[in-house]
Amino acid sequence: MASRKRIALVAHDNKKKELIEWAVYNKIPLSKHKLFATGTTGTLLEEALEQKITKFLSGPLGGDQQIGAHIADGKIDVLIFFWDPMEAQPHDPDIKALLRLGVVWNIPFACDRATADFLVTSPLMYSEYESIVPDYRLYTNRLKNNPGTTAG
Ligand code: PGA
Repeated sequence: MASRKRIALVAHDNKKKELIEWAVYNKIPLSKHKLFATGTTGTLLEEALEQKITKFLSGPLGGDQQIGAHIADGKIDVLIFFWDPMEAQPHDPDIKALLRLGVVWNIPFACDRATADFLVTSPLMYSEYESIVPDYRLYTNRLKNNPGTTAG
């Protein structure tokens, strides 16, 4: 990871105010990084931070999945995801998928404000960092020597 991180930000509707407040408080540190967000979160953040943000689709329309795909492709370094623990979401499977991919690819991610504070104040956010990407070769090669099956 380069010192300028590619940070994806997402907040569910009941958490948007909190994320915007957090982001405005951290406007200067965030300005050192490249920001991405789901559609509505991104529009609000762009106004609040006066910083260009690459916006994906709105979360329920596929934005969470787009961020997940970017994580899998190694194009997102950090995820700040204020999801709502008090309200069911129509795109719950997409949310689970995004959280899962964060762990699959060992990226730092924060799901609440305190963890986001710890992340944004970490010196590693402002220096190069070599993350250990799990070795999935055993998994991808698992069916290679099994006749009659198709390797995934
Ligand atoms: P939104 O999507 O930023 O477009 O509201 C967030 C989400 O619900 O995943």
